[in-house]
Amino acid sequence: MARLIARNVLIMMNPILATLMLISAIAGSTATSDDFAELRAQMVAEQLEARDITDEATLDAMGNVPRHDFIPEAHRGMAYSDQPIPIGHGQTISQPYIVAYMTQLLELEPGQRALEIGAGSGYQAAVLAEIIDEVYTIEIIEELAQFGEDNLRRNGYDNVQVKHADGYYGWEEHAPFDAIIVTAASADIPSPLVDQLKDDGVMVIPVGNPMQTQQLMLVRKDGDDITTEALMPVQFVPFERKED
Ligand code: SAH
Repeated sequence: MARLIARNVLIMMNPILATLMLISAIAGSTATSDDFAELRAQMVAEQLEARDITDEATLDAMGNVPRHDFIPEAHRGMAYSDQPIPIGHGQTISQPYIVAYMTQLLELEPGQRALEIGAGSGYQAAVLAEIIDEVYTIEIIEELAQFGEDNLRRNGYDNVQVKHADGYYGWEEHAPFDAIIVTAASADIPSPLVDQLKDDGVMVIPVGNPMQTQQLMLVRKDGDDITTEALMPVQFVPFERKED
């Protein structure tokens, strides 16, 4: 009887043990891509599907992009945890749920073109690039623009273009965009970005004081009509401006 109970306890603990073993393998740098794939599937189920991420394209994209390969090695063990992670230069890659939530809001379809402001690690751009044909992303910190570009190239995301610039002005040359996503907190909605949205286009942007909680806003363009909707409180790194 005692043995039976012990065995049951062991069986019940198995999933926890398995996760712990995976985490320690990753911390000890012996993790294989299969280990990461398992953690990624778990992230999709527990952090996205179990909440309110229902868009199949978004779930598939989050299940495909190797998030750990967009994160500096020192933090790789946390790649699939439910939190933002430092990527250097005082910046962070957003929590998986926020990436998925913002992606889902854009209602993307194959064939579309999107602009991201705040390339950082390139992870969000890779998620978009899984769903649509053309992604343009702008990063104000030169080293991060390079880091993001390297991560995207190494993982074969050839449909993403990265530019080092102040994203406030958008990327006129490739406008108009079906969707624009801003991943840094802005005091207002930059008018060049609204101008570069297609008629019927959508933009998602955290608006507010970077020192406090901001509101994630959904902006829709319908001819000359611009509608904005506040969706949820969020916390992003500041939208910086280049002074010249
Ligand atoms: N989307 C990124 C998250 C990056 S955090 C990812 O998936 O990893 C936000 C990024 O916005 C930072 O890298 C920051 O340097 C950048 N940023 C801030 N202000 C900017 C601006 N005006 N133009 C372009 N990038 C900006």
